[in-house]
Amino acid sequence: MEKREEIYKGKAKSVFRTDDPDLFVMHYRNDTSAFDGKKVEKLTDKGRVNNLFNAFIMEKLGTAGIRSHFVRLLSDTDSLVHRLDMIPVECVVRNLAAGSICRRYAVIEGTELNPPTFEFFLKNDALHDPMINDYHIISFGWATAAQIVAMKELSFRVNAVLKQLFADAGLLLVDYKLEFGMHKGELLLGDEFSPDGCRIWDATTRKKMDKDRFRQDLGSVIESYKEVGARLGMKFD
Ligand code: UDP
Repeated sequence: MEKREEIYKGKAKSVFRTDDPDLFVMHYRNDTSAFDGKKVEKLTDKGRVNNLFNAFIMEKLGTAGIRSHFVRLLSDTDSLVHRLDMIPVECVVRNLAAGSICRRYAVIEGTELNPPTFEFFLKNDALHDPMINDYHIISFGWATAAQIVAMKELSFRVNAVLKQLFADAGLLLVDYKLEFGMHKGELLLGDEFSPDGCRIWDATTRKKMDKDRFRQDLGSVIESYKEVGARLGMKFD
């Protein structure tokens, strides 16, 4: 497998073509952004930590029968993935209220959501990723009814696996964002799962250990990501 030219540069990751049309290299950079790209910084070691974090989680999900684009780690900051035709929506599952749902509905942060709730957002920074519903998705052709059903089902299966995994490490999985894409007719989990795209609190103290540390200038961002990973059994050194 030969890594070739960069074909896409996102806010935190870049995608490279390879000599195999089915395989891409996902390169994790240290760039960190929030508020639709308005706050941007380079955080030392973030690319490596998130790449290793994502590999660990995708392997756990794979063992539980949830298929993703992840193939294998190539280096500290590169992973080999299957090429997906991405669906341009973000799937958010919430176990506890935090972030935008608190602002939208005047809910107190930390309120338990029982059952966990699910939201779709359109992936569009210029429009500030507006919340959308199933009808918008179908009417505008962003995904089919069958893909909507599959995205919801997979998002909740991820919750069953990860909520328990985090709980066993004394951590609360507050919420997370997933993205999906099509690969040879099958819906696969794409993008990444790392503390950049989820909220994780210490179960006892409720200390924030995710990207809210960056958003809210709480400091020790990557140290916290590494602590979460270490508690889950990841090795960073
Ligand atoms: N999220 C994300 N990318 C986005 C928007 C949200 O990864 O473009 C994640 C975010 O980190 C959190 C969850 O999705 O874990 C729910 O985010 P929320 O809607 O509360 O938005 P925010 O508070 O970040 O504006």
